[in-house]
Amino acid sequence: MSLRLYDSAARAVRDFTPLRAGEASMYVCGLTVQGPPHLGHVRAGLVFDLLRNWLEQGHGTEVTLVRNITDIDDKILAKAAEHGVPWWAWAYENELASTRAYEALGVRPPTYEPRATGHVPDMVEFIARLVERGHAYAVDGDVYFDVRSFPGYGALTRQKMEDLEPAADTDTDEKKRDPRDFALWKAHKPGEPDTAGWATPWGRGRPGWHLECSAMAERYLGPDFDVHGGGLDLRFPHHENEQAQSHAAGHGFARYWVHNGWVTLGGEKMSKSLGNTALVDEVVRRVRPVELRYYLVTPHYRSTIEFTDAALEEAGSAFRRIESFVQRAAERVGAEQPAELPGEFRAAMDDDLGTPAAVAVVHETVRQGNTALAEGDDAAAAAALGRVRAMLRVLGLDPLDPRWAGGGDGRLAEVTDGLVRLALEQRQAARARKDYAAADAVRDQLATLGVQVEDTPQGPRWELTR
Ligand SMILES: [Zn+2]
Repeated sequence: MSLRLYDSAARAVRDFTPLRAGEASMYVCGLTVQGPPHLGHVRAGLVFDLLRNWLEQGHGTEVTLVRNITDIDDKILAKAAEHGVPWWAWAYENELASTRAYEALGVRPPTYEPRATGHVPDMVEFIARLVERGHAYAVDGDVYFDVRSFPGYGALTRQKMEDLEPAADTDTDEKKRDPRDFALWKAHKPGEPDTAGWATPWGRGRPGWHLECSAMAERYLGPDFDVHGGGLDLRFPHHENEQAQSHAAGHGFARYWVHNGWVTLGGEKMSKSLGNTALVDEVVRRVRPVELRYYLVTPHYRSTIEFTDAALEEAGSAFRRIESFVQRAAERVGAEQPAELPGEFRAAMDDDLGTPAAVAVVHETVRQGNTALAEGDDAAAAAALGRVRAMLRVLGLDPLDPRWAGGGDGRLAEVTDGLVRLALEQRQAARARKDYAAADAVRDQLATLGVQVEDTPQGPRWELTR
């Protein structure tokens, strides 16, 4: 495959060769659902959506993408207690908010989206294997990874063992063999809800964050897979620990490590504790979701995006220039034009997903298309339209894609409902004048579209059957 990717473990751009020809497997660390997502939270989802698109559309490769949900964690327990709701209700509410944010931004659902709490037996088995192999030990219901038992610890982030700080994931280091040992399993603490614990051979407790991903990656992708992704801030300790656990369990684990840059505000990484966040659902009330996607997807994935209103506005007008061409050209020559990706676009994307150079090709093609429209050269306009839309499909930014119709965020569903109701009123009117053939025709046409109508005492109801 001609794709080259920056592998942060190797610290080099490497040719991407998947384990199995024609298929690629990816694991991306998903969100810890402790609150509604901000722009920094969703960037990884967008970046790996883009990589998935490029593997599929640029290389005809079938992608299996796993992105987990961490739905049990110290912060979730603390926030839920603060708000007086069960931890799982708090987690689920924020999981739904995350799903809405991804949907609004046109991020396709991953192939599998496992929740940590749904995989406790996998985690217990994983830990038992580490204990058996001499890489983990239990103390008073906690289980720790023994970093000194594993010579490869620190390899991912190229740190020497003696330079590493103590692991900050437990209250006390007293029980550990080494302060750098990290928790695989956390004993149930007094005061924590009973529901936040599962029975294990080491006592009741809950999983450590790092372990969740190792266990879920194995469940869905097996011991070896192609790409492990996530935000830059996850490299250490999270990814270092994931790799140590999985290698110590005898797995090959990830063959490439790909990390995306941060979204900053006021020069600092967006974070709830700093209070410098821009929530996705707030931003999409000010700008169209497709413009926000353009803003977040067009900079290089490893660069930092400093969030400002001016930059967002600039991205919006750049997108509108593209959109305006696509709409005018589609009206003139028809939307369905044969499409081939320009060689320069392919080369840019193959060079570590070089979106800035790839987007420059989109704008250049739009300029050519506008000239063709101005000169009345329909053939050239049609060719430009086909190329522009092929490129935009890779970026998830085709303005004619139904996902962006009506501005995204529920408008399409609202309009659809209105249109179906309009059709049903016509059917009622036909019945009222005893024109049963016309009434049945409306019903049949809706059925062809997959809209099933059911007459109830409260009036007709409809649902999509496919
Ligand atoms: Zn992870």
